[in-house]
Amino acid sequence: MRKKKIAILGSTGSIGTQALEVISCHKDRFEVEVLTAKNNSELLIKQAIEFQPNSVVIVNENKYLEVHRSLSNHNIKVYSGRDSLEQIVSSDSIDVVLTALVGYSGLLPTINAIKCGKTIALANKETLVVAGEIIRGLCTKHRANIIPVDSEHSAIFQCLNGEGESSLEKIFLTASGGPFRGKNRGDLLNVTRKEALNHPNWNMGPKITIDSASLMNKGLEVIEAKWLFDVSLSDIVVVVHPQSIIHSAVQFVDGSVIAQLGIPDMKIPIQYALGYPDRVKNEFARFSFFNHPELTFEKPDLETFKNLKLSYLAIEKGGNSPCVLNAANEVVVDAFLKEKIDFLYMSDLIENCLEKITFVEKPTIEDLVSTDTETRAYLNKIIY
Ligand code: MN
Repeated sequence: MRKKKIAILGSTGSIGTQALEVISCHKDRFEVEVLTAKNNSELLIKQAIEFQPNSVVIVNENKYLEVHRSLSNHNIKVYSGRDSLEQIVSSDSIDVVLTALVGYSGLLPTINAIKCGKTIALANKETLVVAGEIIRGLCTKHRANIIPVDSEHSAIFQCLNGEGESSLEKIFLTASGGPFRGKNRGDLLNVTRKEALNHPNWNMGPKITIDSASLMNKGLEVIEAKWLFDVSLSDIVVVVHPQSIIHSAVQFVDGSVIAQLGIPDMKIPIQYALGYPDRVKNEFARFSFFNHPELTFEKPDLETFKNLKLSYLAIEKGGNSPCVLNAANEVVVDAFLKEKIDFLYMSDLIENCLEKITFVEKPTIEDLVSTDTETRAYLNKIIY
């Protein structure tokens, strides 16, 4: 079997390192072609020595010499800078680009990979949030496929596999509810960074963990689902399911519901996306119904967790609003992690940006880039 050649953008993060675990279990199927990291040169060097990619990119240019020197005895090309990150995906030898970058930084590299007709294993939901309509158009034009890595969207994708386009009626997007499920706004007045980072089921990077605690993650995922599966907002139902066993479900026009289940382990959707259309045998831990005798479901609390409501608002308004939502969220999450602002204040600031930032009805990529810049500058002035 010809090995699939994989480029991992963001190989030192949570998804990137788990993807490398998946690849090392299946060296007969997958080969690492490109690894990229923003700052973590130490881990990037270690990964490069182990997986021997064709090339690596360290985005932080100050770390180029260190990476170059450490890999000088290996046949590995070393690049640095944001332009290299955007260009590297165009290499002919790449089959699949796993986009595991955090946030908005994933947008331009993903667009380039799509323009080169690559298969995208998408772990960077923010790209679809910011530019969903443009991305859809580019995928059609360049015949690029997006296979979702996000566990909920992987679940939906798997449930829809083999179904006709007109058979889908509704998507049930499940949410764990995060560490603050069941709390009210009063309870959340003084929550700390540490409490917000303590996710009950999933072990993830800090940005997405705060997004899960604030339910912004689910808001972003509603927008991601809309663009991935071409469904209207009213056909996406968020269901809080604290055990995170059902990763999402779909309802068909005949009333049948199909769900995808499993233990919460990101290696499963990562492997599915890399291996698609094949299901690849593995030795990962297995789910047992008898270890999970109780699966429960509840409605999300939109009053306490305003971010979910704001996400609906942004996508309904359309244009550059989801881009504003995303940029504002990235700034406030960063500020919360630096203990500059309180947990509840995050939503207030996002709401403020949605009202104040210049609205663009039909944004181009350039418009979105300036919306992102404008939103960050506006918020930074308020916060710092
Ligand atoms: Mn998810």
